[in-house]
Amino acid sequence: MSNKLTVTNHNRNITGLTYVYPVLSRRAGGLSIGINFNINNACNWRCIYCQVPELKLGAAPKIDLDLLAKELRSFLDDVLHSDFYNRMNVPNEQRVIKDIAIAGNGEPTSLVNFDVAVQLIGDIATELGVFPNSHFVLITNGSLIHRPVVQAGLKVLYNFGGEVWFKMDSGTLEGRALINHSAQTNEAVLKNITLAVQCCLTKIQICLVDYQQRGFLASESEGFLELLTTIHATTPIQNVTIYTLARPSQQPEAVNLQAMPLDVMQDFAQKIRLLGFDVTVTE
Ligand code: SF4
Repeated sequence: MSNKLTVTNHNRNITGLTYVYPVLSRRAGGLSIGINFNINNACNWRCIYCQVPELKLGAAPKIDLDLLAKELRSFLDDVLHSDFYNRMNVPNEQRVIKDIAIAGNGEPTSLVNFDVAVQLIGDIATELGVFPNSHFVLITNGSLIHRPVVQAGLKVLYNFGGEVWFKMDSGTLEGRALINHSAQTNEAVLKNITLAVQCCLTKIQICLVDYQQRGFLASESEGFLELLTTIHATTPIQNVTIYTLARPSQQPEAVNLQAMPLDVMQDFAQKIRLLGFDVTVTE
């Protein structure tokens, strides 16, 4: 196991902690501190590009808040006041905490006391001086935002200046069934994204993958643009990020998956810009 933290080494066990893991993020340009509630590798979706090994259907298990607090305090202390960057061979220009990201090996909002955990993380990061300089981010598939406890957590996130990165990998029922193994309808997506913006600053994340060499289907492009037109008309969401497969999927479909070509993503980004969004494309 390498103890060198690089933009390609996303080994979540690198520090041996249960809930906290560091990632050097090319996109963020520095250290991203990940918080993983789904230590059982369970998610309510099964995206065909998912990088979680032995992914299973389910929810985050009961969390040990004392352990989370202890790990986050000691990890932040190590980064801020000890030799973490030297031990991990982090380049000088990347020795900055860009964000604390609630992400991990499954859908984080499935945690039963999600709001309490978000508050705890925000309190510790504020006390240790990480917030407000660094971002506080929730990466979510958005499918559980109808739950009051998730909305309460998003409001806590908002109070710490945080933001929601809402996954939207298709604009159609068929596409979502194929890519995410989710039965979510466009109406459900719209309802949840509307709830998200009522609680917290929200951005859209689109992962485009080429499955079975089909490329980017015209029907998918049309479905996306229709849904995004409605989102633009009904919500204040401004930012969309398009990205593709950066590391191998751990799902059975991996052999049939390829990254979406950059020019295809750029063309699509331009169409979304014409709807009025700010769009970023990352490889
Ligand atoms: S929502 Fe995230 S964790 Fe869940 S299957 Fe999809 S990529 Fe994996």
